[in-house]
Amino acid sequence: MSDLATRLASVRVGIADAAAEAGRDPAGITTIVVTKFQPVSLIAQLAELGVTDVGENRHQEAQAKAAELAHLGLRWHFVGQLQSKKARQVRAYASVIHSVDRVGLVDALRSEEASVDCFVQVNLTDDPGRGGAQPEHLEPLVEHVLDTPGLRLLGLMAVAPLGEPPRAAFARARTLSERVQRLAPGAGALSMGMSHDYREAILEGATHLRIGTAITGNRPA
Ligand SMILES: *Cc1c(COP(=O)(O)O)cnc(C)c1O
Repeated sequence: MSDLATRLASVRVGIADAAAEAGRDPAGITTIVVTKFQPVSLIAQLAELGVTDVGENRHQEAQAKAAELAHLGLRWHFVGQLQSKKARQVRAYASVIHSVDRVGLVDALRSEEASVDCFVQVNLTDDPGRGGAQPEHLEPLVEHVLDTPGLRLLGLMAVAPLGEPPRAAFARARTLSERVQRLAPGAGALSMGMSHDYREAILEGATHLRIGTAITGNRPA
């Protein structure tokens, strides 16, 4: 087996183990392999290994990769901070946008023609420079998404802050997800969990994991 196949297999085992520990069906967990900075050759290898969902965080890089690999039929997830002026272009190739964090971006994503799946991102830190809406802005943001044609809300996305045990942060996200579901009963998905904290995320109900280096190896400099 290649190193890539070995790492992928070992993460799949880790996910299955955590799901068993949580008493959850692993079929309810989608793994998105975050391939930012990685070459298209690696993404093609991932596709051969059965990966169907990949994530990118920079528009230009994502757009170019999605175009070059269009024949593979991958689902592209946009997970990075998104400028409103790039929103329409991202819609064109992304199946899911994980980083909807403000009203202006929702307006920029509006479409009468097509629908895109999305998550509202919540910021679990006190630093407003981080991506994500502050928790006190979550409800109005969710209501705005629900009122905007062309967006299908899947749920809530969060990144565990540094300097705090991830499980505690993910537990907060889970509570915030319950608030989201009061407004949007179908939007119970939770995009959270990365290479070093996906186990804790699964224990707190994550449905979409965004895993990079644990599968891809280190990112090229
Ligand atoms: C890079 C990135 C990931 C993956 O991080 P790893 O630590 O490599 O698993 C997940 N989510 C977002 C938003 C990212 O930018």
